[in-house]
Amino acid sequence: MQTAQQDGQLLNYIQGAWRPSGAGESSQVKNPATQETLCRVPLSGRSDVGAAAEAARAAFPGWRATPAVERIQYLFKFKRLLEDHSEEISRALTQECGKTLAEARGELTRGIQNVEVATGIPSLMMGAVSEDIARGIDEIMIRQPVGVVAAITPFNFPGMIPLWFLPYAIACGNTFILKPSEKVPVTMNLVFALVDELKLPPGVVNLVNGAKEAVDALLDHPAIRALSFVGSSAVAKYVYSRATANGKRAQCQGGAKNAVVIMPDADMAQVTNIVAESAYGCAGQRCLAASIAVGVGEAGEVFKRSIRNAAASLKVGYGLEDGVQMGPVISPESKRRILGILEKGAQEGARIVLDGRDTAIPGYEKGNFLLPTILEGVNAASEIARTEIFGPVLSLMHAATIDDAISLVNTFSYGNMACLFTSSGAAARNFRYHVQAGNIGINVGVAAPMAFFPFSGWKDSFFGDLHGQGHDAIEFYTEKKVVIERWPS
Ligand code: NAD
Repeated sequence: MQTAQQDGQLLNYIQGAWRPSGAGESSQVKNPATQETLCRVPLSGRSDVGAAAEAARAAFPGWRATPAVERIQYLFKFKRLLEDHSEEISRALTQECGKTLAEARGELTRGIQNVEVATGIPSLMMGAVSEDIARGIDEIMIRQPVGVVAAITPFNFPGMIPLWFLPYAIACGNTFILKPSEKVPVTMNLVFALVDELKLPPGVVNLVNGAKEAVDALLDHPAIRALSFVGSSAVAKYVYSRATANGKRAQCQGGAKNAVVIMPDADMAQVTNIVAESAYGCAGQRCLAASIAVGVGEAGEVFKRSIRNAAASLKVGYGLEDGVQMGPVISPESKRRILGILEKGAQEGARIVLDGRDTAIPGYEKGNFLLPTILEGVNAASEIARTEIFGPVLSLMHAATIDDAISLVNTFSYGNMACLFTSSGAAARNFRYHVQAGNIGINVGVAAPMAFFPFSGWKDSFFGDLHGQGHDAIEFYTEKKVVIERWPS
């Protein structure tokens, strides 16, 4: 597959055709393992967003009137094309994002599952009827598409996260605009080459590359009725405030600081493997990465020894190479930011159990690599315990009892995920019942977003009410209309 570009700069996809952005500015897309420049991405502005919004607005009446059973035929074809090209897309994803090829393949599979779920729209978006709601009067609830909708997505899942939105949006009869992360625009450029093969009516699906200026234009454009965002909490809150102030429906998924709690009765060998994968998979750049491990009672010391060994043995390197288990972080700025947080943590009294700061991967000396890092003695009130690190760093903490561990977890401002490792059903129930987080793992280290369920962050991890995926996606992408009918005979 070839990227759609002109003079080394990626194109936007508007009204069913590839078009150069009108923006004067662009940024470089770099391979995080090598710092090699892959291409340039335009930082589109208001005129590009305006063109996409107008194309989507013009396409809406015809698309909305296309029966759902016809709309989903495009999605069946989309699924087949994604599967046929998944290897090429996964390789490109690794090259621009840094994760391992196995992680890239896994992410694409999860993304494709959303296309599969959205093919059920004819059933999923059915309404309801009540006969004789009053004598001789019937009431009908129908679902209609919202109109033009948009999604703004982050760098860490360039293949999966756009697919949390696109399939449901168009299956429900909306027209759609995607603004992918400017750090990883290649994956969606390739996916949109497949979208182009679907021969959808022009304007139903559009792609605008860019950064803040493009986001602000989406937030302000009057044609856009609903907006989905995934990214850091500060930007999620900003996007939610401005979108809703402009009268738009919004769902904004933010950052995380996820705790895993380990009970003394857990199977320590299993816990160690699972937590190592959760903390260091994707170099810790998952919104569901384990960031804090709370050992309950004597579990803490045992876990410390075993996780240290497991983390130290992970093979770090270029994600396209065989056997590599962890890739680089996304950018030199990100690496510097993580090193700065670790420095601050040391000043706050945290001790380094495993130090991954000083590293050079042979052959990839310019890459943004860190090795797995473990801290202990992390004070619950310190900045390092509260800040989303988004890198391969696990902080160890201690609690005397499960109730103390739950209280600790509930002091964190984020509420994306919390996990418990135990062989006790009662402890599991206590945890599930009391923890203030939207995604709970029991003997699971990444409570992964499966397409069939809403992805349910709480607290500072989410702004809005209807989440992405599952039945929430149908609610988000449809308006409900109630009709009350009397037909005198
Ligand atoms: P980010 O907030 O920097 O960027 C996300 C999107 O917002 C990008 O498309 C970017 O172009 C745009 N953007 C960035 N700054 C902006 C600004 N000032 N104004 C308007 N738009 C702006 O996030 P990121 O670094 O790409 O992704 C990592 C973050 O995303 C982490 O915090 C992670 O936890 C979070 N995340 C959350 C989930 C979830 O489901 N809750 C999933 C994945 C990632």
